[in-house]
Amino acid sequence: MNNYFVILAAGKSKRFHNKIAKQFHNYKNKEIIDHSIDKSLDSNLFNKILVVTNNLNRLKKKKYPKIVKIIRGGKERSDSSLIALKYLKKYKPKNVFVHDAARPNFSIKLLKNIAKNLKNYKAVVPIIRSKDSIKYKTQNQIFNLNRDNLLLTQTPQAFRFKELYEFAKNQKNKITDEATLFINKNYKIKFINGENQNNKITYINDIKTSKTYYGIGFDIHKLIRNKKLFLGGIKIPFHSGLEGHSDGDVILHAIIDAILGAIRKKDIGTYFPNTKIFKNIRSPKMLKPIINHLSKSNLSINNLDINLICEKPKVSKYRNKIIASISKLIDLNKNQINLKGKTVEKLGLIGKEKAIACEVIISVTKYD
Ligand code: ZN
Repeated sequence: MNNYFVILAAGKSKRFHNKIAKQFHNYKNKEIIDHSIDKSLDSNLFNKILVVTNNLNRLKKKKYPKIVKIIRGGKERSDSSLIALKYLKKYKPKNVFVHDAARPNFSIKLLKNIAKNLKNYKAVVPIIRSKDSIKYKTQNQIFNLNRDNLLLTQTPQAFRFKELYEFAKNQKNKITDEATLFINKNYKIKFINGENQNNKITYINDIKTSKTYYGIGFDIHKLIRNKKLFLGGIKIPFHSGLEGHSDGDVILHAIIDAILGAIRKKDIGTYFPNTKIFKNIRSPKMLKPIINHLSKSNLSINNLDINLICEKPKVSKYRNKIIASISKLIDLNKNQINLKGKTVEKLGLIGKEKAIACEVIISVTKYD
């Protein structure tokens, strides 16, 4: 094994339009650059992994394994690539892989396939075919190109160090990949199948992601005479109602706590303490600002599962009405809401119809 891996991460990401440079943006739970570093480490193919960056301090803080070296890059991609080759020269590498940090999605299998082909070839480059039709424009004319003849080159690309170093040293023009150097010299390149998922992240939209969270809620209220019973936002005919500072709607309270749990915003008591202004408040009024917050924050409820724990009233009798009411209140399709009735075999306070409890689980997705 005498392979070296160069990761080019000195780009300024002009097209990315974000405060932090692209290579340090969070993507699939780590920074974009760390996908390339981790995969090259995991492949066990390399003597050294050289990261070329203009954010030395940021990367040096991260304490990578010793074989990862971090050096300062140049102005253009080709400058950084040459700086890396000059740095590596002292190690007398046989092969060097050059990779753009903006491609975090390559597989270790691809690395191994490239390494295997390096035994027989001095240059190995992964390619994919164009999915789009392509036109070629000159000053006064447009031509159709046959896309079957077009090769889209990806990185990592790998080369014999000796040849690449010679070509790069004498290159005067800006180049966008190292394969260009070999093609300019009419040198044979072994093209292998690249990977469709190995796309280059160029625009912030390329990495728009979503994250899903879960929350649970629980509530219990005492049943008392001479109070109306509210469940899921509607009045249910019953001999008693639920005691509480509000209307005592255990279902809506458990839903509120489940949502707050999923979005990590504490609990219902934080927003609706037992103070005068909330005395006898109807629960849909408590739910409303929370649902408004969800839609303003690109948060969307996926589904809701409810256990209503009581001896009576019979849940089956009111299920559809309660679900329809909740569906309106939280702006969620009825078939994403499930309501189960659960008795407690006449045990305890709930069994003696002295209380009603409710538990809820919810799933919420945050879109970027
Ligand atoms: Zn409550």
